[in-house]
Amino acid sequence: MTDRSARRDELGHALRALDDRVDAACRDAGRRRDDVHVVVVTKYFPRSDVDLLLELGVRDLGENKAQEAQAKLVDEGALPADVRVHFVGQLQSNKAALVAGFADVVHSVDRPKIVRALAKGAGEGHDLTALIQVDLDGEDPGRGGAAPGAVIELGDQVVESGLRLGGVMAVAPRGADPAEAFARLQDLSARLREAHPEAKIVSAGMSSDLEQAIAHGATHLRVGSAILGSRESHR
Ligand SMILES: *Cc1c(COP(=O)(O)O)cnc(C)c1O
Repeated sequence: MTDRSARRDELGHALRALDDRVDAACRDAGRRRDDVHVVVVTKYFPRSDVDLLLELGVRDLGENKAQEAQAKLVDEGALPADVRVHFVGQLQSNKAALVAGFADVVHSVDRPKIVRALAKGAGEGHDLTALIQVDLDGEDPGRGGAAPGAVIELGDQVVESGLRLGGVMAVAPRGADPAEAFARLQDLSARLREAHPEAKIVSAGMSSDLEQAIAHGATHLRVGSAILGSRESHR
């Protein structure tokens, strides 16, 4: 067996195992499986893995660094037209135009300056969806995100800018109970939807906490290592 076909089998098994986990979590939570989408986060992994994932039917890809994403998903060859690219990493305003050029959904919009830079980069007629990243960890603001109290106003600014407001995103704080954090995110999502009913996306849950995220209304899981393996050897 070639390396390529061995890796294809490995990724195929991992995708099926993940699907079983998501199925079980949806059943436990009394949710429809169709309402939960998996974004496969391919950061640090090579384009050859992206191509295998595409062969295996994956259509939502996530990346967290602008230059890496541009190189891997654009410069190394165009992706099929039905693939959606999700940018999930912290975003500098000077990289916003680059990201607006390849992303369909930006999960990490957390301040007015980023809203303006993305809107400018996207230009007229470009369909870019913005999620408001919420900082659920007042202790460690290093990972980005808007303060919970700023989410509604930022949502208004997204709509005024001409970007499409998709919803909210968060990462569970380190060392905290993810269920408690995702419950707060679910609450904020409900409040945002009172003002913007179309903002239905709740991007929450990674390899280690996707069950808790599904229990608390996640519509989009961002999953890396559970599918691709450990990133340690790829850094
Ligand atoms: C890397 C990353 C993920 C995926 O994390 P895993 O634990 O590997 O599933 C999810 N969200 C963001 C923002 C990431 O940077």
